[in-house]
Amino acid sequence: MSHSSIHWFRKSLRLHDNQVLLAAATDCHRFCPLFVLDPSSLPAGTNARCFLLESLWDLDRSLRGVGSRLFVARGSPEAVFPGLFRAWGTTHLTFEAATDPASRRREVAVAELAAQHGVEVTWGAPHTLYDTHRVLTLNGGKAPLSYKQLQNLLAALRPPEKPVPALTRDHLQGCCTPCHDANFRVPTLEELGKDPAEDGPHLYPGGETAALARLDALMERTAWVRGFEKPETAPNSLSPSTTVLSPYITFGCLSICTFWWRLDGVYQGRQHSQPPVSLHGQLLWREFFYITGTNIPNFDQMVSNPICLQVEWDNNPQHLHAWREGRTGFPFIDATMTQLRNEGWIHHLARHAVACFLTRRDLWISWEEGLKVFEELLLDTDWSLNAGNWLWLSGSAFFHRYFHIYSPIAFGKKTDRDGAYTRKYLPVLKDFPAKYIYEPWKASRAVQEQAGCLIGTHHPRPIVEHRAASKMNVERMRAARALKGAQQEPPSSPKSQRKKPKIEQH
Ligand code: FAD
Repeated sequence: MSHSSIHWFRKSLRLHDNQVLLAAATDCHRFCPLFVLDPSSLPAGTNARCFLLESLWDLDRSLRGVGSRLFVARGSPEAVFPGLFRAWGTTHLTFEAATDPASRRREVAVAELAAQHGVEVTWGAPHTLYDTHRVLTLNGGKAPLSYKQLQNLLAALRPPEKPVPALTRDHLQGCCTPCHDANFRVPTLEELGKDPAEDGPHLYPGGETAALARLDALMERTAWVRGFEKPETAPNSLSPSTTVLSPYITFGCLSICTFWWRLDGVYQGRQHSQPPVSLHGQLLWREFFYITGTNIPNFDQMVSNPICLQVEWDNNPQHLHAWREGRTGFPFIDATMTQLRNEGWIHHLARHAVACFLTRRDLWISWEEGLKVFEELLLDTDWSLNAGNWLWLSGSAFFHRYFHIYSPIAFGKKTDRDGAYTRKYLPVLKDFPAKYIYEPWKASRAVQEQAGCLIGTHHPRPIVEHRAASKMNVERMRAARALKGAQQEPPSSPKSQRKKPKIEQH
């Protein structure tokens, strides 16, 4: 008997390399591609909501191109599905499995509802390169806690799956799509409670079409792809020095396996960089945090998270607000947070710098607060990657060289001595001489007047005395680690244990 299928689009907002979407179209007489617009799980920020809507419009366009339509239902999945099962005489439901706890709970609830309505459920694999559970099983049910360990485990597995063909008209031969009315249209930004005027400069339009175009353009730069080494890319270049495919991966507009194999094609037969610094290596970092996030309880919080260092962070709402708004008085930090707020994306090392500043170096504020701000402002917000990287950067897990810290003054200078990036994102400082661009408070009153910007009036003074704060915080981190005891130290880091605490020079 042929099926009446609903394919529930969750993260993989695309037609290419979408195995479970193809499964939905197989042996099907009625095909209903569905997105559930659930107010409780919408991205928080305007930029990210806009990206989502563009991705949905693009998906709808692509589905029309193969003779179908996208249905956007409003409400929680638990409220929406029973009515749709009945209205569309559904026999089969397909969707891609998620890995974060809230989405997993939701899937289980929907699968139970489906069972009550006699609907057969097919779960697709989550959007990772490898089968997460397979890797965990190989490691005795435990998450690998280092990249090296992950690489050793992956060496025992076959390479990632090759992408499957994109859904076409041929797959949908003999299949109809139910009547579509205005209740199922893709919403506007206003309907999502956001003012289009608040949308940023729109550097990264959402959708599968934009994702594939960006990927194609990047893969043409073969020498750059082969030579890519993450530490050599700049956090403060005026145009991105890495791929900025992350928002497209987060929303599943780009399949991670497609990205992997396109890179493989460029590498073929030529010398190229290697993990962890290569582009393949970046995708394995993603894999690393997906696997750890799936396995470790309460991964996105400090309390009851078995791998997380327990720290008595300060509660300082004024400092947190200043950090979020780019008002700390440290131009590199403030420029980076301004870029994040306006554009929704910042370079990985810029994320390092602002995360280190908020937590273990200058402000001693919990990484959970930083995680929430990133969740709101990033276009590429991803539950596992955000939590995993915050754990790392705050010195709370994975990363044990807590004395290795980023200077908010010296770090930016390394790749941008004249401060072009700071001038772009903080135009109030644009006329400061290069000598003072990272420390404008050191300029004399006359220099400040000449630059048309008085520190303390037009731009804030530093909210902390940087040297004193970082010295104190290294000590606090050392004390927190001592309290926790030796089990936090990785067995393979005797050298790092011998090192003296080091404050980066500026
Ligand atoms: P590229 O350097 O071009 O790398 C290609 C892809 O590899 C990325 O798109 C991403 O999917 C993956 N990748 C690269 N670096 C990492 C990494 N360190 N961890 C995991 N995956 C990686 N990335 C997110 O996608 N979502 C997040 O919510 C997120 N939060 C972060 C929070 C902090 C505090 C930090 C320090 C990093 C965070 N990252 C996050 C990781 C990383 O910064 C971004 O993935 C990367 O900067 C995205 O830019 P890109 O696509 O140009 O990366």
